[in-house]
Amino acid sequence: MTAPPEDEPVVHLLWINAGLSCDGDSVALTAATQPSIEEILLGGLPGLPRLDMHWPFLASEGGPDGGPDSFIEWFHRADRGELDPFMLVVEGSIPDESIKDEGYWCSFGNDPETGEPITTGEWLDRLAPKATVIIAAGTCSAYGGIHAMAGNPTGAMGVPDYLGWDWTSKAGLPIVCVPGCPVQPDNLSETILYLLYQVTGQTPAIPLDDNLRPAWLFGETVHEGCDRAGYYEQGQFTTEYGSPRCLVKVGCWGPVVKCNVPKRGWINGIGGCPNVGGICIACTMPGFPDRFMPFMDEPAGAKVSTLASGLYGDLIRTLRGITQRAVDSEPEWRRRRRATH
Ligand code: SF4
Ligand code: SF4
Repeated sequence: MTAPPEDEPVVHLLWINAGLSCDGDSVALTAATQPSIEEILLGGLPGLPRLDMHWPFLASEGGPDGGPDSFIEWFHRADRGELDPFMLVVEGSIPDESIKDEGYWCSFGNDPETGEPITTGEWLDRLAPKATVIIAAGTCSAYGGIHAMAGNPTGAMGVPDYLGWDWTSKAGLPIVCVPGCPVQPDNLSETILYLLYQVTGQTPAIPLDDNLRPAWLFGETVHEGCDRAGYYEQGQFTTEYGSPRCLVKVGCWGPVVKCNVPKRGWINGIGGCPNVGGICIACTMPGFPDRFMPFMDEPAGAKVSTLASGLYGDLIRTLRGITQRAVDSEPEWRRRRRATH
């Protein structure tokens, strides 16, 4: 792969991983293959602009604040209006710093003038008006996720709740949410790729659903792409792990969850929650986790459909068994015939 020429304009990507999170979305992106982050960075796909990525996971700058090799200086430069265009990726949910008396919940670097930590929320306040587009990477950043569960002390929220669901960038782009706990690697790399093409005028506006997710990635349910869907249709449910049958009775939420992971796999097409034996716990959904707990119980809304599927499935399996025995054998005329003379 050859990087685009030095004299081409640069798109900067600034990544703040200092929301409330486990850094799982950064880890996930290292596993992307379609496209890989290396392909995006090295210009391995046609028409890609030169990308300068300021991502804590990949940064080589390790110098102190104010020095010539300071990683955080890129963010100060963006704040001063010296980087344009730039994409802002936010990882982790944003705590509400206004609901406590002292200290702070999370921060990213220090203010050069005061030496005080700059909170994650303050970075959003500073950089959002200057960003060309903001990507909320992972469910914490998109909708609050685990940190925003009922009763949490931080008032954590996703980027759309912090900036407003109708927020648009100076280029007119809404916040783009790529949920998942963590995000499916290729869903994030593909969205970054799409937006790089969009900000350089090579694609139409990214299609998003009502929850600001890329519509082509989150338009179908887990169930519609699940390897086990045939068992569901035939009313064959397991009540324990280690079986190839449908997992709904051990807590799978797949029939109502928007996620492409069973179809796409996890890494390079391999894996994908129910395909490899794990229940879908709905990690791409705005109500995750509260609305889907307790995780290991059969979803209440599934009881009627599994009962119906069980009755229908018994009949269908009996009829299919008859047909299967008929078709699972060679036609008579293919057998060696006995000589007649
Ligand atoms: S395991 Fe889940 S997603 Fe797969 S068929 Fe069963 S209910 Fe649907
Ligand atoms: S299949 Fe379910 S648990 Fe797995 S990534 Fe998708 S939404 Fe999350």
